[in-house]
Amino acid sequence: MSVHYPTASLKPHKEESLAGGHLWIFSGALQQSPRWIEAGGLVDVKSSTGQFIARGYYNPQTDIAIRILTRDPEEAIDAEFMRKRIRSAVELRSVFDPDQTNAYRLIHAEGDGLPGLVVDRFGDALVVQINTIGMERLRPLLLNTLMQETRAGGLLLRNESQSRRREGLEVEEPIAIAGEVPRQLTIRENSVQFLVDLWQGQKTGFFLDQRDKREALRKYARGKRVLNCFSYTGGFSVYAALTSSETNVTSVDISPPAIEVARQNFTLNGLDPDQHEFLIADVFDYLEEAASNREQFDIVVLDPPAFAKTQSARAQALKAYRRLNILGMQVLRLGGILLTCSCSGVVSMDDLLGVLSQSAQRFRRSVQLLETYTHGVDHPTNLAMPETNYLKAVFCRVGSDSSLMTPLFDTH
Ligand code: SAH
Repeated sequence: MSVHYPTASLKPHKEESLAGGHLWIFSGALQQSPRWIEAGGLVDVKSSTGQFIARGYYNPQTDIAIRILTRDPEEAIDAEFMRKRIRSAVELRSVFDPDQTNAYRLIHAEGDGLPGLVVDRFGDALVVQINTIGMERLRPLLLNTLMQETRAGGLLLRNESQSRRREGLEVEEPIAIAGEVPRQLTIRENSVQFLVDLWQGQKTGFFLDQRDKREALRKYARGKRVLNCFSYTGGFSVYAALTSSETNVTSVDISPPAIEVARQNFTLNGLDPDQHEFLIADVFDYLEEAASNREQFDIVVLDPPAFAKTQSARAQALKAYRRLNILGMQVLRLGGILLTCSCSGVVSMDDLLGVLSQSAQRFRRSVQLLETYTHGVDHPTNLAMPETNYLKAVFCRVGSDSSLMTPLFDTH
């Protein structure tokens, strides 16, 4: 029996741009807005000649009018659909050995074929964010299936993202809607332990997307003096400090509770926090002062929050990244390692490399690129949607050798 939903028709030839697997249809591509469908309702997308293209959910209020859920005309959007998507996501995460890593992103929205949905797993608990009205309407199909397929002990809904307002949704208080969800819990990541505040921590409690960069940092950190800027609860700091009792780590963050948890995370891993520095400060102010005091570190980590959330903020953000990277280089000893990151979706890897190159030239430094990263395997991205690839991270060695000072990238 075939399945049908109300139809949204595309303008002529608009289906061609969807052929590569992209999951968004902008309002300008629609022949006419299907006004009779409630916001978030399911629709069948058809070409101008009436052929079935895809099935998704519709929001008349946003630029992205339709987010695609399936291209199979026979696939209904029901509990079975949810089960299939969730199973596929769970299977990908079987790369993690739970004895070493029991916290990861379980569902990464479009990357896992479920636009508008983010689910993070922390041990026995799931933390869920619903970011679109279409996904909100699918909530009754979703939560039970999630609990069944993951055998989680509890589910916390954190619908606090401001992006919900653009969708016409309310911003909600965190609420446990299944089982028991503790305030705080200890997770393992590559056998390192971290306390996570599930209810009040930033985002869903922990920045799971830096796991592979934290691991990569280990090989540089042994016995070194490390500066971790925007440390949050000490993710990079603990990994570095664990490499050797000779390693000394300074963690800087503007959030007092984050720094308090960072100290606790040192203790949790058998490290003495008093052997390290923890500073509550604005990183820009701290770096200015450290540079004027001629402080020198062997390793500098720069993992700021997103400086640009929209295309219009991009130019201003690039300036801020430049300023930050110049300051970072000023406190890095010659031949030291810089890990610089950007989690702004509108800033590309080439943009970040350009920032590095310009910062190096301003400060008369050479840069050797060592490693580049995006998110970890638990944050898959749809190949057709490079714009959803938000995180970029670069490890490089910064030196003074003028013979190495060839500009790496176009600096216009
Ligand atoms: N590297 C961290 C995640 C960083 S998230 C990890 O691995 O877990 C960004 C952090 O920057 C947040 O903890 C936030 O409190 C902090 N922050 C934001 N603006 C800041 C500023 N101007 N100075 C210092 N910290 C800042």
